[in-house]
Amino acid sequence: MRTGRIERAWGAEALQPTVGWKVWRVDNGLLVSVLYGDPWPVDEPLQASCVRHDHDAPARACECGIHAGRDLVAWGHYLNVGAESRVFGRVLLWGATVEGAHGWRAANARPAEIFVPSAVTADTEGLEAYGVPIHTLEPVGKLVPA
Ligand SMILES: [Zn+2]
Repeated sequence: MRTGRIERAWGAEALQPTVGWKVWRVDNGLLVSVLYGDPWPVDEPLQASCVRHDHDAPARACECGIHAGRDLVAWGHYLNVGAESRVFGRVLLWGATVEGAHGWRAANARPAEIFVPSAVTADTEGLEAYGVPIHTLEPVGKLVPA
């Protein structure tokens, strides 16, 4: 697994982060969560907060935290809806992490690798600022099984 400058600065490397899959929308060259619309900062980790309750995220009995899937298929719906701006990738998750059947909810996250499907027409040049590998995919049929 690749970790970079920011992971080292935040001590994420030592915490042996979990790696999950995530789908984002690209908006003005930034990664934006498809569920809550949070922009992912380019120069620091995304930190979870709870919009419903006054507690640290993620809380076990809540839905808060940064969601990532064990498999990309869990995100298939989000990848196919609005395909012109949807990208996906692997994320590092660390800090408090709640494990579920299909993935995790974590306190901190950073992209580790970004894949840009051929259907994307949004401007993805700004994604370079995340400092992670970006793979542009050739059309090879459906990326995610229906
Ligand atoms: Zn919560």
